[in-house]
Amino acid sequence: MDYQAVLEEVTAFARPLVGRGQVAQYIPALADVDAERFGIAVADVNGEVHGVGDWQEPFSVQSISKAFSLALVLAEGGERIWDRVGTEPSGNPFNSLVQLEYENGIPRNPFINAGALVVTDRLQSLTQDASATMLEFLRAESGNPDVAFDPVVAASEAEHGDRNAALAHFMASYGNLDNPVSTVLEHYFRQCAIRMSCRDLALAAAFLARHGLRGDGTRLLPAREAKQVNAVMLTCGTYDAAGSFAYRVGLPGKSGVGGGIVAVIPGRCTLCVWSPGLDSYGNSVAGVAALDHFTTVTGWSVF
Ligand code: GLU
Repeated sequence: MDYQAVLEEVTAFARPLVGRGQVAQYIPALADVDAERFGIAVADVNGEVHGVGDWQEPFSVQSISKAFSLALVLAEGGERIWDRVGTEPSGNPFNSLVQLEYENGIPRNPFINAGALVVTDRLQSLTQDASATMLEFLRAESGNPDVAFDPVVAASEAEHGDRNAALAHFMASYGNLDNPVSTVLEHYFRQCAIRMSCRDLALAAAFLARHGLRGDGTRLLPAREAKQVNAVMLTCGTYDAAGSFAYRVGLPGKSGVGGGIVAVIPGRCTLCVWSPGLDSYGNSVAGVAALDHFTTVTGWSVF
């Protein structure tokens, strides 16, 4: 496969959609991002990486971090996490509170905010420093020691974090958090505020294409748990539009409101696309179109 040629074709296809949609508005650090950016990278299972456009430009990973925190909790603590959080799509917006009360403080899945807060709480208990554990992992897998969280974005998340605080307190009232709410929120906001490029993210997520193996050949996850992360990405990874993403792209994917999307082709490669304009669900308009075209051109959806 001539990845470079495919990425160039995909970019030409998606380019007219760049700037469509709306850049995330809930914090100034995201609202100020240039909507005209577009980058795409692919990393194969051997760590060879290709990219086009703004593929080396760092952006706010936001909810893409939820896929890494889930994987790290599975790696550290195994499948006990599934007693604390479910594996079903929520059918509600990512920051919704409604299901928590009648489901006893157990979030539907690890990729809505409530679920990610529970996962962050577990990672904190298992490693004593959830956000540092994640940074260490991302730096190692991307080979980029400069991967870091943006303190301005983290502070801004905290300042506008009433809803996440409400979710965390509500779950704490059911005994589904072990650490103080303030600690869980601090680490959750830092994880959202990590800045990485398409290149870094495609490499860092490649363990999901390698059935759990890290870049150095050691095992992060048993194949069964890598499958679990991919499956939950497919069913829950793109907000309340995971059905439409599966239908269009046909790959496990995790998006963030920074405009990034990571997608996995198990056994072959990982992709990361970034363009900040979001649709009404919070997924990058040009990003979804690019991934849709990639699987159409290559025939490499999981279906
Ligand atoms: N940082 C956002 C929040 O917690 C989530 C971002 C996202 O969904 O990408 O509300």
